[in-house]
Amino acid sequence: MFNGKNYLRPSTLEEAWTLNQNKNNKIIGGMLWLKMGHKNISTMIDLSDLGLSTIEENDQEFRIGAMCTLRELEEHSGMEQFFSGMIRNSIESIVGVQFRNLATVGGSVYSRFGFSDILTVFMALDSYVELYKGGIIPLEKYADMPYDQDILMRVIIKKRTRKGVYLSIRQTATDFPVLACAVSQNQEGAWKIIYGARPGKALAFESGLPEKPGLSDIEEAIGKLKSWGHFAGNMRGSAEYRKALAEALLRKAIRYTMDMTRA
Ligand SMILES: Cc1cc2nc3c(=O)[nH]c(=O)nc-3n(C[C@H](O)[C@H](O)[C@H](O)COP(=O)(O)OP(=O)(O)OC[C@H]3O[C@@H](n4cnc5c(N)ncnc54)[C@H](O)[C@@H]3O)c2cc1C
Repeated sequence: MFNGKNYLRPSTLEEAWTLNQNKNNKIIGGMLWLKMGHKNISTMIDLSDLGLSTIEENDQEFRIGAMCTLRELEEHSGMEQFFSGMIRNSIESIVGVQFRNLATVGGSVYSRFGFSDILTVFMALDSYVELYKGGIIPLEKYADMPYDQDILMRVIIKKRTRKGVYLSIRQTATDFPVLACAVSQNQEGAWKIIYGARPGKALAFESGLPEKPGLSDIEEAIGKLKSWGHFAGNMRGSAEYRKALAEALLRKAIRYTMDMTRA
């Protein structure tokens, strides 16, 4: 459990950013991860008054405020339709409904956990983050950046992706994933394949799949996957086990995605 001395709810982003430059202060989301640690926080910075709690949709994109909860994301009908349920599928195994009613998108994406279902699914879509000082940058780039004192304002998902699938393997229903795999195909037919919980952070696998892959194309991609050196072992499984799961999940995800694009 952490200790927080002061609590502030800034009314401008500039004020929140200035407070966050002091390393003894911390932005608070749902505090579900923070409460697992033992930090002494001087001022807890609550972003609730900054208009970051909505999901906006226009012709081009979804704009998800950092203070939206995972449950709001899971239940959003626009994203459900547009991304064929893959966002909901990535979220519904995270702990339980009460937990997802508190955990925020900002806290989840800022943290860039190796086990993150959220990072994995967003990376398989055409996603960006909007930072208060850093502007709008691709999520892939953000995933590799060191932790800093900027404020994550929104996640933006472009509506270029046609269909996709999210699959994960867990030892028990609501545990951290042993391996996660998100696959999508955009309007131009290009595939994105992301593995999360490798156990490292979500990473793109360059499969070289053509728009309409035949059996030999899929076998070629699986061959590449077998020599992809980005799976490792931890308490949830060995690198070899993850590699075997990765192959099975990829075959399944390609088949499901192709079925959807045909429909
Ligand atoms: C027991 C447990 C099980 C979990 N299981 C899974 C799982 O299976 N899959 C999965 O994907 N995730 C899982 N998670 C992670 C969870 O879904 C959330 O990602 C996590 O709790 C962080 O969200 P939060 O809102 O609680 O953030 P907080 O704990 O409030 O904050 C986390 C960090 O983010 C920073 N922060 C928060 N918001 C912002 C912002 N807008 N800008 C900049 N920095 C910010 C905070 O300062 C802090 O450093 C689990 C977490 C726990 C505690």
